Amino acid sequence: MAADRSTLVPTEVTMDWITRLIGIDTTSRDSNLPLIELVAEEIRAHGVEPVLVPNAEGTKANLLATIPAADGSTTGGVVLSGHTDVVPVDGQPWSSEPFVPQVREGRLYGRGTCDMKSFVGAIVAKLPQLTTVPLSEPVHLAFSYDEEIGCVGAPSLVEEIGRRELRPRACVVGEPTSMRVIRGHKSITALRVAFHGVAAHSSLTPNGVNAIEYAAQLVRFVRSFAERNRAEGPFDEFYEVPFTTATVNQIEGGIAVNTVPAECALSFEFRAVAEVDVDETVEMFRAEVRRIEALMREENPEARAEVTVTAKAPGLDTALDAEVMNLATRWGGEVSPGKVTYGTEAGLFHHAGIPTVVCGPGDIAQAHSPDEYVELEQIARCEDFLDALVDHLRS
Ligand SMILES: [Zn+2]
Repeated sequence: MAADRSTLVPTEVTMDWITRLIGIDTTSRDSNLPLIELVAEEIRAHGVEPVLVPNAEGTKANLLATIPAADGSTTGGVVLSGHTDVVPVDGQPWSSEPFVPQVREGRLYGRGTCDMKSFVGAIVAKLPQLTTVPLSEPVHLAFSYDEEIGCVGAPSLVEEIGRRELRPRACVVGEPTSMRVIRGHKSITALRVAFHGVAAHSSLTPNGVNAIEYAAQLVRFVRSFAERNRAEGPFDEFYEVPFTTATVNQIEGGIAVNTVPAECALSFEFRAVAEVDVDETVEMFRAEVRRIEALMREENPEARAEVTVTAKAPGLDTALDAEVMNLATRWGGEVSPGKVTYGTEAGLFHHAGIPTVVCGPGDIAQAHSPDEYVELEQIARCEDFLDALVDHLRS
C-alpha cells in the first residue's frame, strides 16, 4: 500500500523495463514492432497469449492481453492502457542521448520517459504479480501505436475489446497527469478544405476564380464560429479554456503575384466541450463550404471545393461520481475535479462505453520537449498504484 512506503524510490525491475523500452526508438514514423514483440514475449513468458492488432501494412501493431481472473473469467475487469510510440527528437537540443535513458538528480531523462513508457514499463514489470495473484476479475493490457500522430492505432484496439466482448468496468490510460485522476478532455476534430478555382492572368480577373479569396470566406466563418462559442458557450468551467475553440492553422495558395490563384487549401481544427455535437458541427462547416462552392461555380462551373476530415478524436467526459473515479483514487490517484487541455486515447475508450480516466506518472509539461524526464518519485507512485490495484483485485 502507498502509505506503507517510506521512501518513494522505484524498484530495480521497473527501472530496468522502462530503460529497455526507451532504448527501442519507436518514433511514430517508424515501426513499433520491436517493442511490441519484446513485450509480447514477456507476457507469453508469464503464461498469457497476447493478441496483436496490426495496421494495414503490417508495419505496426497494437497489443491486447487479458490476464484472466482466478476463476478463468475474461470479461469485466480493468484495462490498463498506454501508447508505445514517441514524438521525434529531430532538431531538439538534448543534453544526453535521447534513447539512452539517464538518471540525473532524481529524474530519469530520455524520449518517452514521461510520455509514456514509464507507465507501460511499470506494468510490464508487474507481470509476475499480475499473473500469479489470484484475481477476482481480469486485467486487460492495451498498448497502442501511432497515438502521437492523432490516435491512429487505438481505434482498432478498442474495437478488438468490443469484438471479444470483454466489457471492462474501468480503464486507466496512463498519460502523464502527475498521478492525478483526470476525467475529462475535449474532442479534437481537424478538417482540410481545398478550394479549386480557375487560374488567369491577373489583368484578366473575370476569366479566373480566385481560390484564395473564397478560402478567406471560410477563414472568416471559422473565426466567427470561435467568437460565438467564446461569447455564448456552451461553457464547461472545469476547463482552463471553458468553451469550444476553433482556429485556422495552415493555409497554402497562389503561385505568383500576377496570377489569379487556382488553388488554395486550409486546415483548421476545433476542440469541443462535451455539450457540442461534433458531427453536427462538421456538417455545419460542410454546408458553409457548399455555400462558398456555389458562389465559385457562379463564376465558373468548373470550380469546386472539397472537405476532408483529417482527424477525429472523441472527448472524455466521465462523471465526477463514476465508479472508475473511486477506483482510481482508491489505488492512489489524486482526486482532481478539473479537466485537461490535451487530448488522449481515453476519449476512444469512453466513446466505446468503457468508463475511463487518465492517470499516469510524469508531468505533461515535460512531454515532447528536449531533455524530457520523469521524476523517479512519480515512477514509484505509479508502482504503488499498480500494487494497490493488484491488492484490491486479489480474490
Ligand atoms: Zn502521450
